[in-house]
Amino acid sequence: MIADNLQHVRTRIRDACVAAGRDPASVSLLAVSKTFGPQALREAHSAGQTAFGENYLQEAVDKMAALRDLPLVWHCIGPIQSNKTRLVAENFQWAHTVDRLKTAQRLSDQRPPDLPPLQVCLQVNIDEGANKSGVAPHEVLALSLEVARLPRLTLRGLMTIPEPAAGFDEALAVHRRAQALLEQLQAAGLPLDTLSMGMTGDLEAAIHAGSTMVRVGTAIFGGRVNTR
Ligand SMILES: *Cc1c(COP(=O)(O)O)cnc(C)c1O
Repeated sequence: MIADNLQHVRTRIRDACVAAGRDPASVSLLAVSKTFGPQALREAHSAGQTAFGENYLQEAVDKMAALRDLPLVWHCIGPIQSNKTRLVAENFQWAHTVDRLKTAQRLSDQRPPDLPPLQVCLQVNIDEGANKSGVAPHEVLALSLEVARLPRLTLRGLMTIPEPAAGFDEALAVHRRAQALLEQLQAAGLPLDTLSMGMTGDLEAAIHAGSTMVRVGTAIFGGRVNTR
């Protein structure tokens, strides 16, 4: 079942790439496994999936321990409070949700010397929701230049979580703003290659706007029971 779902999502990604005139190899799939237990991740791994996104840090660390025998790549896609940066720095390969210098500085300071640099995306509040996390679009360039200087982080690009859109065109318009921002940073000389955007409902629009990593949960693992 998870294997079938993964196959279906890969087909969606490939079709969206073809429709957008892009190489399917330019978009990677992050399986968002929050609330699902280790067995579900094992199944996904058997079906060829290695990159997993987790939102809740303690839950993630427990899963990592249960799945130590598998060569998985872990992405933190949930909020990172200051008192939780060590968990992220010590356990994840990627963090997508950095939105302030203080968090980035702590992650860099706390990244263990025996691990490669933490791969980082800055979360952008692309639709400028009042209570949303993410750096404001007009502050992204300044923050990027600071984060890019931190020794134990590698700044890879931007991440967005837009509000659900009414349809393809509306989703596309928001994703295009993120694409333009990334291009602006690249034009400023930052060597960025990652646009983490698109989920189950809008991955086609995100791929149309240059997403290089879609984060998909529901279409792979099924619906989540909200326990929080
Ligand atoms: C839960 C979550 C996803 C996956 O959402 P689906 O709609 O289930 O595909 C992607 N990104 C983030 C940040 C999430 O919290």
